[in-house]
Amino acid sequence: MDDQIGFKITSASAVLGTSVSLTTWEGMWSPYAEEVYTAVLDHIKPTDIVLDIGAGDLRLARCMAEKAEKVYAIEMQSTLVEGILPSNLELFVDDARTRPFPTDINTAVLLMRHCTHFGLYWNKLTAVGCQRLITNARWRAGVETIDLSTPRVTYDMLDIGWYACQNGHTGFKRGLPEQLTTKMLDFVNEVSFCPACKIDGYNE
Ligand SMILES: [Zn+2]
Repeated sequence: MDDQIGFKITSASAVLGTSVSLTTWEGMWSPYAEEVYTAVLDHIKPTDIVLDIGAGDLRLARCMAEKAEKVYAIEMQSTLVEGILPSNLELFVDDARTRPFPTDINTAVLLMRHCTHFGLYWNKLTAVGCQRLITNARWRAGVETIDLSTPRVTYDMLDIGWYACQNGHTGFKRGLPEQLTTKMLDFVNEVSFCPACKIDGYNE
């Protein structure tokens, strides 16, 4: 897991550090995007009312609308969106940071590897009672499903293992090797007061 994450972050930095044409960019990322989209779609159920934050060209939102009860999509750039939308897909051409989130959602999708407003979105989602967040924003590789109601432990209370916080920070807390089990390597502890933000709650 560690190696894989390291590799993908290195690749992303290498690409972002270079100027590439749009065609090159899309060519480089479309296989990865497909893999990510499939991972997200696997988690979508018929009873889901989904909010897609930063929905881009709505490719994923349209696929989710085929599986979910309802999909809301927020996208700032209206020029990306083409064609007629399915009846259960509602588009807001707006800024997700300031647009109030719909109050009937139970699932949110945030595909944004370089998201700088993770804490803000988490805060807005829990404020409207959203239960799940499917995202690649924290680990930047692969997709995780976060139960937004999971009780958090304070970082100090954690002995050893992977951790992630509500403001998007992640890491591995080192401890005594004998405390480590295989199960722990696949488990992410939701923590407050992580070493990066040192608070419990939303870092404004
Ligand atoms: Zn943090």
